[in-house]
Amino acid sequence: MSYRLSRRELLRLAGASGMAAGLGGTLAARSLLADPPNEKGFIGGVISPSVTQPTTSCPSVVGGKVVQPQRELTLLDQTDVLVVGAGPAGVAAAIAAKRAGAQVTLVERYNHFGGLWTGGLVLVVLGHMVKGKKQVCMGIGEEMMQHLDKIDGGIVNRKPGVNPTVDAEALKFVMLDMIEEAGVKVFLHCWGVDAILDGNTVCGAVFESKSGRQAILAKQVIDATGDGDVFAAAGAEYTHFRYQIGLCSRIGYLDKVDPALLNQKPKPRGLGMISPMPGVNWIGMRGPDGDALDVKELTRLEMSHRRFIWESMQKMRSTAGFEPVRLVETAPQMGVRMSRSVAALKPVTFQDFKAQTRFPDVVAVGGAWSGEHDEWQIPFGALVPKKIDNILASGRCIATDLKMVDLVRVIPICFVTGHAAGVASAVAVKDGCKVRDVEVPKVQRILREQDAYLG
Ligand SMILES: Cc1cc2nc3c(=O)[nH]c(=O)nc-3n(C[C@H](O)[C@H](O)[C@H](O)COP(=O)(O)OP(=O)(O)OC[C@H]3O[C@@H](n4cnc5c(N)ncnc54)[C@H](O)[C@@H]3O)c2cc1C
Repeated sequence: MSYRLSRRELLRLAGASGMAAGLGGTLAARSLLADPPNEKGFIGGVISPSVTQPTTSCPSVVGGKVVQPQRELTLLDQTDVLVVGAGPAGVAAAIAAKRAGAQVTLVERYNHFGGLWTGGLVLVVLGHMVKGKKQVCMGIGEEMMQHLDKIDGGIVNRKPGVNPTVDAEALKFVMLDMIEEAGVKVFLHCWGVDAILDGNTVCGAVFESKSGRQAILAKQVIDATGDGDVFAAAGAEYTHFRYQIGLCSRIGYLDKVDPALLNQKPKPRGLGMISPMPGVNWIGMRGPDGDALDVKELTRLEMSHRRFIWESMQKMRSTAGFEPVRLVETAPQMGVRMSRSVAALKPVTFQDFKAQTRFPDVVAVGGAWSGEHDEWQIPFGALVPKKIDNILASGRCIATDLKMVDLVRVIPICFVTGHAAGVASAVAVKDGCKVRDVEVPKVQRILREQDAYLG
């Protein structure tokens, strides 16, 4: 049974402990009550062990191998559409599916929305425009940027032909606001670790969190983890890329440096690019090719990147005129560009990009980094695993060949493929069919109604 101290008991204890510490009771009580009591007059309490300490069956060592016993999982949730990962793709997918009429649950391993766009401090939006400065990545991602337009310091360089840069905190808030407004159910601090299968059909996923190992059942699942964690667990085939892994950061107090020094030619190294915050620049990092699915490699790179960033900053601060500059932050999320790309019905290929292939099942359109190309189409088949049912890939883990990786993985392409996955999953739920069998014209119609551009 739980037991909580009443406010009167708390004040009494605070007074007693304060006296014991040689303080006046009132002063001690006040400092203890720095967190104001809630409406019931309580500050904290003890939760019954029967809730927090369920009996578990731990893995054991059998014949030199660690064996995990069979066990039942508690149900964390049950929903129509489960979206795993809340980066640009996952957030767009969740909002789109909810607006298309499905019940939606969005699960994220970290504490914020935006994935690499915010937590990876990848702030510059590339690939949303084509020749003639026309913007082709629209829909829910564009709506996020319109919300940022209204926030002081939310976004800079929002003009035709230029790649805009967002403020990570403003964007985290915009996403939170849009998700709450749409009515999406959210679980943060919750790591997707397995898929739940009925034959070849995915019907949910398993999560680890401080609440333990729990399951969410769903009619449709969208893998927006960037790394394809869920479709891989379900047994879908994929290409495993080794690709550049970096770590972004931000530096500050550049407004205390003489502008003549900042603008000298050649430009001093390591100054990065403008951000919406005055005196603060964004610094990207390419990094070496690495395997983002190897925890030893991730650890090694994370540590060496952090050392490099810190030492580069000290070097800059030892240069005359640059003494005021400070490291503001290193990204909470490692800069993984590419890991798994699902083996799907119709991958995005460089050949189709060059040939300007138009697909009857187009569900998204992409641009280029500096608007130097024509638009190119992404077919629904690039999201659909070859053999596993009722799961779609979205964002940087959709099907692509190596030559298209640098176009496919950028933020606007991730939010448009997320948008498409969300609508397709909601249509599959409504029509009670496998997602690979959805009527694509219906998906296209709803996408257009939701302001997506399909060419
Ligand atoms: C260093 C670097 C620089 C880049 N520069 C640019 C640039 O300038 N412009 C540009 O447009 N793009 C850039 N990109 C690419 C772009 O940022 C990403 O490819 C894009 O954010 C991917 O979006 P996503 O939603 O597919 O995945 P992510 O942004 O990776 O989001 C995936 C989300 O899923 C969560 N997740 C992962 N696994 C699990 C799990 N098992 N369970 C629960 N949650 C999980 C993650 O925490 C994350 O929030 C850059 C990328 C890097 C790494």
